[in-house]
Amino acid sequence: MDLKTAEALSVIDGLRIDEDGDLSLLTGFRTGGRAAVAVPQTKQALIETVRVLRELGEKHFILGRGSNVMALDEGYPGVVILTREALSSIDAEGTSIRAGAGVPLADVCRTACREGLTGLEFAYGIPGSVGGAVFMNAGAYGGEMKDVLTEVEYLDSEGNVTVSAASDLDLSYRKSFFQDHRDMVILSAAFGLREGDSSVIYETMRETMNKRIEKQPLEYPSCGSTFKRPEGSYASKLIDECGLKGLTVGGAQVSEKHAGFVINRGGATSSDILELISRIRETVRDMTGYELECEIEFLE
Ligand SMILES: Cc1cc2nc3c(=O)[nH]c(=O)nc-3n(C[C@H](O)[C@H](O)[C@H](O)COP(=O)(O)OP(=O)(O)OC[C@H]3O[C@@H](n4cnc5c(N)ncnc54)[C@H](O)[C@@H]3O)c2cc1C
Repeated sequence: MDLKTAEALSVIDGLRIDEDGDLSLLTGFRTGGRAAVAVPQTKQALIETVRVLRELGEKHFILGRGSNVMALDEGYPGVVILTREALSSIDAEGTSIRAGAGVPLADVCRTACREGLTGLEFAYGIPGSVGGAVFMNAGAYGGEMKDVLTEVEYLDSEGNVTVSAASDLDLSYRKSFFQDHRDMVILSAAFGLREGDSSVIYETMRETMNKRIEKQPLEYPSCGSTFKRPEGSYASKLIDECGLKGLTVGGAQVSEKHAGFVINRGGATSSDILELISRIRETVRDMTGYELECEIEFLE
């Protein structure tokens, strides 16, 4: 970060800055270099931080829990803004829950369970924050954010706080309006649920989590499914059929437990992971004709 940016940010109330943040501590694969990391403590400080960086034309990246983001070995030449402390409120009212974008999705699921609200059980176990889940239209086990979101509050390109109905956010398989408007910042989201029985909800959440523990290589750092599901097949099935389970580049490996996951077996660099991803795509293309598209977001 240059001196001018550092000075402009230093006057913002409630903003903590780590000028030499370690991206490997903040992102899914636990790899990557360094970057300036801004940690606003309040919503106002976050809005002000974005305003200042936009005015200075300084590159910035909004990071939720980093579970779907890979940082590059060379780091990031801008400011990474964390939402976890600023956007951390959560309120349940009637059959609706409103949560700040920095709130872990699991906390929203637990609140729903406690309040006897059904609809979010599918999401229990998807790592990450509300903001990341909205941005990715995260989903699992037959459900996706699109099914439960009612509205989203965000900071638009002009710096205005805007609210849109979820139906206006182009939500489809791992896609949202925000992927085409990367300068916008999701501030909070409202979930519309139905009355249910807490003990039944709890049991479904527990089963969902157990399925993940059984099927996914949760013991290693990863970004979850590396690739999107291609039309007409499954990435993990194609990768497995091409004999790529266990393929290794440096510390990066195609998980032997679940071929859809690239994992950091220990000591991987981001370059190892990128090289492995490119080999998987090439082999699957040559052997099956399918073009695999990455689901992972890159911090660049
Ligand atoms: C073990 C494992 C299992 C997983 N299982 C699933 C699964 O079942 N289903 C699924 O869909 N995903 C899954 N994922 C991927 C990941 O958990 C989801 O994509 C999650 O929604 C990302 O949330 P996050 O807060 O970590 O977002 P991040 O990884 O921090 O960010 C993801 C993207 O969202 C953007 N973003 C984040 N917050 C905001 C905001 N407030 N405003 C604007 N943009 C924002 C970021 O800039 C980035 O482009 C899995 C990942 C892991 C590691």
